Amino acid sequence: MRFIPTHCEACTRTALVRQDAIVGGRAPCEQCGGATFSMPGESYGSEDMALFEELRSVLAQANISPGNAAALRGELAGRTSAEPGRGLKRLTQLVPALGLLELIVPGRPSALRKAEGMLATLLDGLARARTRSGTMSAVSSSGQERGNGTR
Ligand SMILES: [Zn+2]
Repeated sequence: MRFIPTHCEACTRTALVRQDAIVGGRAPCEQCGGATFSMPGESYGSEDMALFEELRSVLAQANISPGNAAALRGELAGRTSAEPGRGLKRLTQLVPALGLLELIVPGRPSALRKAEGMLATLLDGLARARTRSGTMSAVSSSGQERGNGTR
């Protein structure tokens, strides 16, 4: 079973959804029941869910604005041709609140590469909020979500 990143237009949440739950590129949002659309490019296995959630929670706690998310996303644009981990390091330099990422992500090249892909996806989702109205409350409330038992 593969999991595909989806982005909710209503609450701006980015989440992994089972591939078979997505119909015509859309699936209902687990958080608000709104319509989500799948984000192309990445897919993950069930073993990746925990890391994705942790990265999402770190980004949420860092309170990154949509404009900053777009800029940080740009830092990861060349990640597939750069040394694994370089993009991640760049993010933690630019946003000290993201320093936790270096503790969460295992230092193996494959794990770093995967985490950078997840971060690019999550930052894409955060950057999309820029085009929507009323995003400030949605962004701050998503930072207070339940911890999902990941720690
Ligand atoms: Zn939603």
